[in-house]
Amino acid sequence: MKLTIIGAYGPYPKAGGACSGYLIEWEGNKLLLDLGNGVLSKYLSLGHKAQDLTGIIISHLHADHMSDLLVLRYLLQIQLMNKTIKKGIPVYCPSTPTKFYNEINYKNVYEVNTITDKQEISLNGLNITFHKTNHPVECYLTSIKYKGKKFVYTGDTAYFKEIENIVDQSDMLLCEGGILDSQKTSTTPHLSSKEAAQIAQVSNVKSLILTHIYPENDIEDIFKEAKNYYSGNLKIATENTSYDI
Ligand SMILES: [Zn+2]
Ligand SMILES: [Zn+2]
Repeated sequence: MKLTIIGAYGPYPKAGGACSGYLIEWEGNKLLLDLGNGVLSKYLSLGHKAQDLTGIIISHLHADHMSDLLVLRYLLQIQLMNKTIKKGIPVYCPSTPTKFYNEINYKNVYEVNTITDKQEISLNGLNITFHKTNHPVECYLTSIKYKGKKFVYTGDTAYFKEIENIVDQSDMLLCEGGILDSQKTSTTPHLSSKEAAQIAQVSNVKSLILTHIYPENDIEDIFKEAKNYYSGNLKIATENTSYDI
């Protein structure tokens, strides 16, 4: 598998950046994990085509993770009319909040599949399991196993104990952790870089990539905070960068 960071920011992008969007490629397949604002433009500018998508997984229906899904639907609608594609692209997403979910069900441009907790699916050789996270709206972590490798993308979450078992022994963990611990309050629904690093450490994660970067933060500060708590291979998500898994 190959991971490419398309967009790394949240809850809004840095100038010229994009919100959450991560491309997994394997055996000629392309799977997008989240499609936040700016991701479609960056995906296309890297030379990828919308019609080549094997599927799209949306962790949750917050705008910084799904808003370009509402723009991509126009492109796909035209491709369906032109017969560039014959059927809708499979989308896996939560069914709530309903007002956003209903917007995704648009002119059959997507084959919409609803995610539930602990659901398992297979997608052209990938074994994928979803786990509900700790976030104000229904949100799912995506765990992918392929050819003996384990990759996990957390989506958005505050800390919950079970996450340590879920990400245990991951070869790569793409984890939200783009705020500093000092920026958290008791109600912040996100992980700090310290918390993400602690989870990766106790779970024996081989490689940790911190993402959902708060655009006002200095990348070096995030890296330094996490490095104090994690001894493995640490990276900060950088747009247009690819990693082999
Ligand atoms: Zn977010
Ligand atoms: Zn969110």
